[in-house]
Amino acid sequence: MRKGLERSETLVFWNVANRILRGFLLVVQPRPTRYPGQATLDMLGFSLSPRHSTRGRWRTNGRKPIVLKLFTLTAWFQPDSNSGVLYMSEAFDLIVVGAGPGGYVAAIRASQLGMTVAVVEREKQLGGTCLRVGCIPSKALLETSELFEQSQRHFADRGLVVKGVTVDVAQMMKHKDGVVSTLDSGIQGLLKKNKIERFFGNGKLKGNGIVEVTGSMPTTITGKKILIATGSVSSSFPGMQPDGDRIGTSTEALIWPEVPKHLVVIGAGVIGLELGTVWRRLGSQVTVLEYLPRILPGIDEQVANEAKKIFEKQGLTFKLGTKVTSVTASGTTCTIQIEGAEPITCDRVLIAVGRKPCTDNLGLEAAGVQTDKRGFIQVSAGYQTTAAGVYAVGDVIGGAMLAHKAEEEGIACVEKMATGHGHINYNTIPAVIYTEPEIASVGANEDALKQAGIKYKSGRFSFAANGRARAAGHTDGFVKVLADEATDRILGVHIIGTHAGELIHEAAVAMEFGASSEDLARCCHAHPTLSEAVKEAAMAVDKRAIHS
Ligand SMILES: Cc1cc2nc3c(=O)[nH]c(=O)nc-3n(C[C@H](O)[C@H](O)[C@H](O)COP(=O)(O)OP(=O)(O)OC[C@H]3O[C@@H](n4cnc5c(N)ncnc54)[C@H](O)[C@@H]3O)c2cc1C
Repeated sequence: MRKGLERSETLVFWNVANRILRGFLLVVQPRPTRYPGQATLDMLGFSLSPRHSTRGRWRTNGRKPIVLKLFTLTAWFQPDSNSGVLYMSEAFDLIVVGAGPGGYVAAIRASQLGMTVAVVEREKQLGGTCLRVGCIPSKALLETSELFEQSQRHFADRGLVVKGVTVDVAQMMKHKDGVVSTLDSGIQGLLKKNKIERFFGNGKLKGNGIVEVTGSMPTTITGKKILIATGSVSSSFPGMQPDGDRIGTSTEALIWPEVPKHLVVIGAGVIGLELGTVWRRLGSQVTVLEYLPRILPGIDEQVANEAKKIFEKQGLTFKLGTKVTSVTASGTTCTIQIEGAEPITCDRVLIAVGRKPCTDNLGLEAAGVQTDKRGFIQVSAGYQTTAAGVYAVGDVIGGAMLAHKAEEEGIACVEKMATGHGHINYNTIPAVIYTEPEIASVGANEDALKQAGIKYKSGRFSFAANGRARAAGHTDGFVKVLADEATDRILGVHIIGTHAGELIHEAAVAMEFGASSEDLARCCHAHPTLSEAVKEAAMAVDKRAIHS
């Protein structure tokens, strides 16, 4: 094996060699096949059956697949991409399909636990939705647009005079793409470091631990176990199909080449509000249409109401209880038809009405993996699907569609595979919305507690009374701590305020350790910090906050 070869060159080399060998066998071996070494292979339980000889696959003669696992000659030998050493690369302890946060993190943990691991990903870049078209690019645009907004609206109040700040969308996108590509390289490096084999192409389950990889370098690999982490894709309703240009999903809204004059966002959920905020800050008129009578379904109602007031002050227009019946585009104009109201015209539409599991061309049926009515893969507590040896984690199994939830599930799943134990506490998974102010929560909200009939106490503290928030000029919002009325155990914490996404982890840790609101209230917090608002809210549960 030539050591100096790039991985892609190496794979092409072996792929070509592989095909030549297969072609040779096909041409020179008359059927019924006899070929060198067949007697030995026959003894081991192999033969090259006429049906499969055209594809060069070895089949067992009815013997146990263990032999197949030992001698996975399906695609012949390939080089270990990390060491340049020849080995039989096609048999693995674990094959992970999908290299998003659920998949690649699970792969690394599995490798740490001693498994041989392959990752199949159909996009060139690793990191999944989160890195390519989700968490990271949206946060890069949110950070940059916030700097612009600060310079336009708030610097002057502090005596900072900056004139002539303009938006260069192309440069902003270049910066965002740079962030994504640096992190992609980081994940590539992590896979390499952990000796994880990456296969580029669509992974399709064929049953019995076999995954067919199609794409520019088709191959077939086998795994003792398979983990599906294929994530989710944007969904839409009938009458509102994205056209990849004027009518877009979040993916397109992350790459628009110019600032829309009027952007209509359909859906007042997390993604709609984050991306609507980006383009509003950059100069768009933004109208948000929502079918429900409130924004941010699932978020504590008091927090959502506060957020709506703040976002309206910032310039977003909300039309709640609005049913969109169709969206069309003609040239640069989009028209949105609304039930019982006048149509709206605009130059761009962002459809942000939710996401659905990504299971296309995955071979679930053939493998015996069942889904629920909405298409999410059904799993047991240990992430085992209805097919033996096949597991699933992340967005594709439903629940909160969050990158860190997918990561935790990936880790818990492979730890359970390897050790019999895997831990995840769904009550302490934080959720963050990266607007300004940020919105963050962990645990139950008031609506959920009321519905469950759980009696609770509530303590609230405003950032307006927090010294650090005043100094920073970010006084909007509050912290709310909910604790069990009888035991004082913290049941949920909800924050709307600057850096809420960082502050929430104190509450998550406290809850993970089963803390009471008094425990939190008695912890000393440095002054002046935003965290003091968390302490004061915990003190407020017992009506003893100092600064309110
Ligand atoms: C605009 C936006 C912003 C977001 N912001 C946040 C945020 O701030 N914080 C947060 O926690 N979450 C955020 N999310 C959600 C987050 O991105 C997802 O919850 C997370 O990526 C799910 O991880 P996953 O591993 O389950 O799937 P994904 O990240 O979707 O990864 C699945 C991967 O599988 C690949 N794949 C699919 N099918 C196949 C196949 N058959 N063969 C091979 N490969 C396949 C896909 O190409 C993809 O790379 C955001 C999402 C969007 C759209």
